[in-house]
Amino acid sequence: MKGEVYSHLEKSIRPYIDLVDTLRSVGIQKDLALPTIAVIGDQSSGKSSVLEALSGIALPRGTGIVTRCPLELRLKKVPGVKWKAVLTYNKKTGPVRASRLAQSTHDEEKIEFEEPSLVEKNVAAAQNELAGRGVGISDELITLEIMSPDMCDLTLIDLPGITRVPVEGQPEDIGKQIKRLIMKYIRKDETVNLVVVPCNTDIATTEALKMAQEVDPKGIRTIAILTKPDLIDKGTEKTVLAIVDNRVIPLHKGYIMVKCRGQQQIDDDISLEDASEMESSFFQNHDYFRYLLEENKATVKCLAVKLTQDLVDHIKKSLPQLQEEIKNKLWNVKRELKDCEDGPPEDLEGAKEFLIKTLNRFNQQIKALESGELLNEKTLFAQLRAEFKKWNDHLDSTKTSFNNTTELSQKNRGRELLGFSNYKLFEKILQDHVAKLKAPAIDLLNVIKDIIIKQFTDVVSECFRNYHVLQDTIMDKINNIQLTQLEKAEKRISEQFKMEHRIYTQDPIYLKILKEITNETFSEKELPVFDKKCNYKHMLEAYYEIVVQRLADQLPLMVSFYMLQETAQILSTDVMKLLEKPDVHELLSENSDVSRRRKELRARLNRLTADKNQSTHSGDGPKVRGHSDRGGRDGPPRGANAELT
Ligand code: GDP
Ligand code: MG
Repeated sequence: MKGEVYSHLEKSIRPYIDLVDTLRSVGIQKDLALPTIAVIGDQSSGKSSVLEALSGIALPRGTGIVTRCPLELRLKKVPGVKWKAVLTYNKKTGPVRASRLAQSTHDEEKIEFEEPSLVEKNVAAAQNELAGRGVGISDELITLEIMSPDMCDLTLIDLPGITRVPVEGQPEDIGKQIKRLIMKYIRKDETVNLVVVPCNTDIATTEALKMAQEVDPKGIRTIAILTKPDLIDKGTEKTVLAIVDNRVIPLHKGYIMVKCRGQQQIDDDISLEDASEMESSFFQNHDYFRYLLEENKATVKCLAVKLTQDLVDHIKKSLPQLQEEIKNKLWNVKRELKDCEDGPPEDLEGAKEFLIKTLNRFNQQIKALESGELLNEKTLFAQLRAEFKKWNDHLDSTKTSFNNTTELSQKNRGRELLGFSNYKLFEKILQDHVAKLKAPAIDLLNVIKDIIIKQFTDVVSECFRNYHVLQDTIMDKINNIQLTQLEKAEKRISEQFKMEHRIYTQDPIYLKILKEITNETFSEKELPVFDKKCNYKHMLEAYYEIVVQRLADQLPLMVSFYMLQETAQILSTDVMKLLEKPDVHELLSENSDVSRRRKELRARLNRLTADKNQSTHSGDGPKVRGHSDRGGRDGPPRGANAELT
């Protein structure tokens, strides 16, 4: 490629491409999509030939899938240097190393060379390493940077050719795999899709064009290249021209026809330079396609100019959006970093102090939880109240009318004369009825225990998010304490029911309830008279009502006392005992993913802030940050009409 082609291009082009390359080289594409050109097409449509003609270098060629990994070609026009190439990719490390060194499963491989003929060999070797020898594909990107005085300023990504039928050794779904890989690149708004279609096929129905249409239905960021015009079937020229003239599938960026070296010319060692001459004369002498030259719709030279301009336009348009995205990402990363920053200090004293602080914070949270001040998603006390209400409802449901007592007393009559009452019998009736409440009371205890443990667990994970040893130690403590407390509470409940075996209440209380039930007034003196009325039904009801009222409050009080109040107290003291443990660092060991995450986030932070330093190297070059760029000379934001060139 000769320099004169680009002489008319503004000097401002390189900085834009450099900016994006710089962003890419700090790895920012891991965080957001960068403007790029992706080359897609069916197998043997001429993709490599076009890239070759653009870059002046021989790329791996052959039959079958030759491009098996995305290959990023960064072409740089650098005046006064010797031809030089740098190939980089992330070397796969074996599984053994990967497990030992969990944070970096990849090592960057970098190969520099100064001999154009080595490109093919080196790219092929990198592909073999990433995608395996043979015919498989891989998503891993290979980057080939080429610097030369006669190079166009472009960055493009070559993708595997679309294929339908697997060849020997290829998985059945190779077609799908390739399409998925292609989609990954072309569906991004930041990508200009370069679709390569041979003239000697049914252009409108090509798979590549269809895929591009799918992701870019309005044809805003798709540019089509028609190859092999020399192989066109006689008589179909007009059909092809209709397409180039944008009359069949309209594309805003339009069509360009190129003629590259055919197999014969390659075999005859025709140089790319000579091939370029031959291309010019082919179009000049072509009856139908001649006029495409005047319209700048033919030749590789024309394509190079157009692509460079397109890429720069695209970058300019993407800048405001890019800036916005970087800002957002930066904010998120900083916030996440804050979450896992402030790890424990290395020195023992510092670590101890850190542990005290952490444990104190935990104790405060537990205290807040216990006193009902901790307002979390589902507050503890709301849950407890709901369960206690259920208990009350259950008690209410067990009240009965004790209707058949007269009958019962006759059935169980002992030696007493007819009409005399047996107090023991009535006592038994009440005892049996009350005893039935014990099982539900124990159930209540267990339900409350689960609720409280869940709440404690939440506080533990919140307070010790990054410290698994502390988390485990304290959860152990909580479970142990709760177990002891559960036993205590169970014992206390059992005792309560044993006490309830003795039928007892204060006379005034009994009279008060009796009054409420019968709507009659009694005095203590009158009561024996009441007994003679044989209205035992009401007397039983009144007593049971008293039991219900007693237990309705008693149980919740007991359960909360043992399971919450005492547990919280014991836990607070117990937790502080951890400070006596000799191995503070052991206690504070972080979750393995936290330090990794922190490292990763710091790296991201560096990437996202890198452009600030890198892009400002040339005074009037483009910048991603800084408000002066927004909507200013960089033109309207993406999606505006300016894109319709
Ligand atoms: P890819 O599989 O899409 O990369 O296609 P290639 O670039 O490897 O091209 C496939 C074949 O078509 C090769 O033999 C090329 O020489 C040939 N070819 C590419 N472009 C042209 C062209 O414009 N004219 C002719 N006659 N052959 C071409
Ligand atoms: Mg190829």
